[in-house]
Amino acid sequence: MSSRNNKSPNESETQATRSCPICGKPQVQTFRPFCSKRCADVDLHRWLSGAYVVAGESNSQKPEDSDETAED
Ligand SMILES: [Zn+2]
Repeated sequence: MSSRNNKSPNESETQATRSCPICGKPQVQTFRPFCSKRCADVDLHRWLSGAYVVAGESNSQKPEDSDETAED
């Protein structure tokens, strides 16, 4: 059952009305899908920081070595 292949002749026209996912302004062809380089950077930064947090959250292993008793 695959009857979801409805190709609408007006599909190419609806693509022109997309907005920036960051600020909602109409996106610019050069910075798609964003409206400017700034918004592209914002999204990239969000993605990177989010990925880094998930990747290495607890990375603090300190070897405890404070039990050295010098005898003799
Ligand atoms: Zn934007």
